[in-house]
Amino acid sequence: MKKIISFLRQNILVIVISFSLGGFAGYKVLESLGIAFLINSIPIPEGSIADKDAFLETLPEGKPLVQKELIPVENKAKNIILLISDGMSLTQVSSYRLLKGGPNERIAVDTFPVSGIVLTHSQDAIVTDSASSATAFSTGKKTNNGALGLDQDNQILENFTEKIDKHGYVSSLISTSEITHATPAAYASHVDLRWKTDEISLQMMDSDVMTILGGGRHFFIPEEMGGKRSDEVNLLEEIESSHTILMKKSDMDNFDHSNKGKVVGLFADEALRDAETPDNHSLEPTSSEMLEFALKRSEQFTSNGCKGFFVMVEGSQVDWAGHANNLDYLKREMQDFDEAVKTALDFAKNNQETLVIATADHETGGLLIEPATPTNYTSPEVKFSFNTGIGYGSHTGVPVPVYAYGPGSENFTGTLDNTDIYYAMVEALDLASRDESCVN
Ligand SMILES: [Zn+2]
Repeated sequence: MKKIISFLRQNILVIVISFSLGGFAGYKVLESLGIAFLINSIPIPEGSIADKDAFLETLPEGKPLVQKELIPVENKAKNIILLISDGMSLTQVSSYRLLKGGPNERIAVDTFPVSGIVLTHSQDAIVTDSASSATAFSTGKKTNNGALGLDQDNQILENFTEKIDKHGYVSSLISTSEITHATPAAYASHVDLRWKTDEISLQMMDSDVMTILGGGRHFFIPEEMGGKRSDEVNLLEEIESSHTILMKKSDMDNFDHSNKGKVVGLFADEALRDAETPDNHSLEPTSSEMLEFALKRSEQFTSNGCKGFFVMVEGSQVDWAGHANNLDYLKREMQDFDEAVKTALDFAKNNQETLVIATADHETGGLLIEPATPTNYTSPEVKFSFNTGIGYGSHTGVPVPVYAYGPGSENFTGTLDNTDIYYAMVEALDLASRDESCVN
C-alpha cells in the first residue's frame, strides 16, 4: 500500500494530465506507467539485462525409473516411421513456425492429432547426449552418455531393428549427418563410445538394416586415401559385393527397386549440406527425398513377403545449429525436417496402417523467444537468443515434445520417459504372429 501511495505521489502530475487528456491518451500513459510499476514492484537483483541469474543446485538422490503403463493397442500398425529432430524442443518448433509465417502459421508437427512430453535424462546425466538418448529410443534402456546399444555395464542391448527383424519387418535408417553419427548408429551398432566410427560403420554394414542413407563417405575410406578411418580398411571397396552404394541424389532416382540387396547412400564426405562443400549440395538429397526413396523400397519389401517396415529419419543438424547459435542454420534444418515430417504424414494418411512419430532426443542451445526489449511486449521485433554458451552452446535438460499419428498413437500422450518411446513402438506392432526374418 505504501508503495502505491508513493507511486501516486510521484506520478500525480502525469496522472492529472492523463485524465485531462481523457480516454485513449490517458489510458495509454497509465498503461505504460502500469508496466513500469509492475516491474518496479517485483524484487529484481542488481545487474544489466545482458547478465543471467544462475542457480547451482544439487538434486535429490535419484528414484528408480518406472516404465509408463501402456494402453494395449488393439488395432496394430503395420509400419512405423520415426522422425527424430536432434536438438529440437518447443522453442525450436515455435521459432521455425514464427519465422516461416508468423504466430498463426502451422507446420507439419502442428497437424498431428496426438502429442506428449518426453523426459530426456540419461543413466548418468540430467543433460543427455545423442548417443544415450538414441539408445533409449532404440532399446528402451537408459545408458551412460556416449554409449551406443550397450547398458551402463557395457552389456549388449538388443535394438529395435534387431528385435523386429526377427518378426519379419524391414528397416531403414536416414540421417543428414554422417550415417555413423550417434542417432542412426544406435539402431545398428553396439559400442561403448560413439566416436569409435571405424567399428560403428563395420557393424552397421553387417546389420540387417536394408537401407541406410545419409552422409559420411570419409568414414568408409582410410586416412591414407583422404578418408577418416584409422584402421586402414577401405570399407567402400569391401562392401561393393554386399551393398549397392549410392553416391548422389540421381543414383536414388535411377535405382532399380526390384533390387532386394542392401543399399547404403553416402551422399557427402561428412554431413549433408556441409558449408565447406557448397558445390556438392545440388548432388545431395533432402531428408524428404531420402524418406521417399526408403518408403518406396520398403513397400517393395512388404509386397514381397515382409510383414511391415520401420524407417528412422534423423534431422541431425538442428542440434548443430543450436551448438553454433545460428538461427538461419536452425531455420534451414527445421525446414528440411518439417518437409520430411509432412512426407511421412501424407504417406500415413494415404496408407492408414502406419504409425508416424515425430520427436527429439534433447534440446540444444537454450533457445529463448523474448520481446526485443523486456518492457515492450508489443514491439514488432522479437528476440531469439541462445543461452547455453556463446558460439558453441550445449544441450539442455528441458523436456522435448512428441507427436504421433496412426495406429498405436494413443500411447504417445502425457509425460513419457525417452525409454517409453521404445515400448510404445513395440506395443504398436504385432510381433507375436511371426518369428522369422524376411531379409535373411
Ligand atoms: Zn549435440
